[in-house]
Amino acid sequence: MTIKAINPATGETFASYQEMTDDGLRDAISKAHNEFLDWRRTGFSSRAGLMRQAAKVLRENAGKYADLMAREMGKPIRDGVAEVQKCAAACDYYADNAERFLAAEPIKTEARKSYVIFQPLGVVLAVMPWNFPFWQVFRFAAPGLMAGNGAVMKHSSNVPGCAVAIERVFQDAGFPKDLFRTLMISNAQVDAVLESPLVRAATLTGSGPAGRAVAGKAGSLLKKTVLELGGNDPYLVLEDADLDLAATVCARGRLINTGQSCIAAKRFIVVDKVHDRFVELFVKRMAAARMGDPLKQDTEIGPLARHDLRDTLHRQVESSIAKGARCVLGGEIPRGPGAYYPPTVLTKVTKGMPAYAEELFGPVASVIRVDNEDAAIAAANDSVFGLGGGVITGDIARGERVAAEIESGNVFVNDNVRSDPRLPFGGVKQSGYGRELSHYGIKEFVNIKTVVVG
Ligand code: NDP
Repeated sequence: MTIKAINPATGETFASYQEMTDDGLRDAISKAHNEFLDWRRTGFSSRAGLMRQAAKVLRENAGKYADLMAREMGKPIRDGVAEVQKCAAACDYYADNAERFLAAEPIKTEARKSYVIFQPLGVVLAVMPWNFPFWQVFRFAAPGLMAGNGAVMKHSSNVPGCAVAIERVFQDAGFPKDLFRTLMISNAQVDAVLESPLVRAATLTGSGPAGRAVAGKAGSLLKKTVLELGGNDPYLVLEDADLDLAATVCARGRLINTGQSCIAAKRFIVVDKVHDRFVELFVKRMAAARMGDPLKQDTEIGPLARHDLRDTLHRQVESSIAKGARCVLGGEIPRGPGAYYPPTVLTKVTKGMPAYAEELFGPVASVIRVDNEDAAIAAANDSVFGLGGGVITGDIARGERVAAEIESGNVFVNDNVRSDPRLPFGGVKQSGYGRELSHYGIKEFVNIKTVVVG
């Protein structure tokens, strides 16, 4: 079996990769485990040296990796370069801070001595998505390897070239050759990876069904998981908001990565008094985004990552319109090749429509009109998801108060949600559990060991 790289801007297959055999898979896991046995005993300073080297490799090759992302999943080249730079920054961040985050923690008890140490678990499986092919991996790998773990990664089948390139980043940086291994496998082989006694835990970023499958299997084997799943992030536009700012923040939040981000702004919950004016300004901002060839420097919106993903999105839009939503921008598949979908704004979105309840993974905004702040909070929380959210208001104290009411893992006031190595990242409800990044993230895959000296 082969895994094909297909350019979503043209539909052309431009590379294919051989899937690993079962023997090859077992060999990769066993080699990663053997490397881990030595790696866990290395000091933080040597791990940090290698992680800084990985940052250097990333920076030196940012253009090449961005080109690969553009060809495999349609990310505009400028965004690809920024993504690689962010990965490098995360490597440096954990190189600088891992030792401090994982320092032994003395705790006073009646015993002569009692303290906590943080030890690596072993080889961790990472099941990764295509939308940020580098960033999603590095935000797990930088803390994971700095904590002393090994890793095997199953990347999305539409970004095999990125998967290979990431494995090489660690090898070129001088890490033990098999400490971080890419597994070129289909999702059907993930169970076998989890069943290996050498694989101790798993992290997955992706859809709810994928999360359920991996967490269900891992649960049956009593292995820990961290899940970062979808979102239907609400942005509340209150009546005291600066509407220019609101339109800018909301359009920027919606169009991140051509709308294909778990933390993209998705539902715009707007108080009646400012609804019409907001929609007018918002539509202008959405319409201004330049859609085109992802390899061109000035492109802001590329094609969606796959044709099937565009079909799903368009079905969600059409079904919402059939149920009474009004399409005030976009909503039609452009002629010509490529999985393009234009910036789209739906108003009159109400309960019972896909645009209200489901994750729309593309540049489609759902505008929901509400009477007041209380109704806005209720609509925001009327979701199975709980990843991110935004509050746009002229009153910061009010923004913070409303932020505390939103059931999600992140809320940004007067700005759009984005991940930052210094801040914990993750969700509640069906958006997953556990946290990535910051000192919380590095502690997800360690044995928090209590030591007491009587
Ligand atoms: P998936 O969730 O199917 O893919 C994510 C990763 O999980 C891939 O590596 C995939 O492998 C793997 N996977 C999928 N099913 C299983 C399984 N049963 N067992 C083990 N591993 C599995 O995402 P899609 O690419 O199909 O996108 C569908 C939707 O998912 C999007 O429209 C969006 O709503 C959501 N999504 C959310 C993301 C996020 O950041 N939270 C990222 C990507 C998608 P393979 O590619 O081989 O199937």
